[in-house]
Amino acid sequence: MHETSIVNSIMKTLELEFEQEKLNRMKAIHLKVGILSNIEPRLLHNAYSAYHLTHPQYHHVKLHIESTQLKIQCEVCNHVTQVKNYRFICDNCDRPSKNVIQGEEMLIHKVEFED
Ligand SMILES: [Zn+2]
Repeated sequence: MHETSIVNSIMKTLELEFEQEKLNRMKAIHLKVGILSNIEPRLLHNAYSAYHLTHPQYHHVKLHIESTQLKIQCEVCNHVTQVKNYRFICDNCDRPSKNVIQGEEMLIHKVEFED
């Protein structure tokens, strides 16, 4: 399953990034998931629950997923437009644009630790 490997890679990234002592105090992971990223938040939550079966040390760590909207930046006037209904047209000058600057990514936005 696609989402299982995403969860594995998120956790691997955190384990490389932080010391064990810090990982023990981790209490929440915040992700930003673009609506065009092909990642289904519900399935990601399921995969994260399944991950705890083999990694019980993270059982108490909450996963927060924020969906990010689709935004384009116009190549002509640099205006940033939030795309609605897949209408890829600049709000400012009405030109079509495919320069997506947000909405395709999945990123670890923030990690919270106990004091
Ligand atoms: Zn424009």
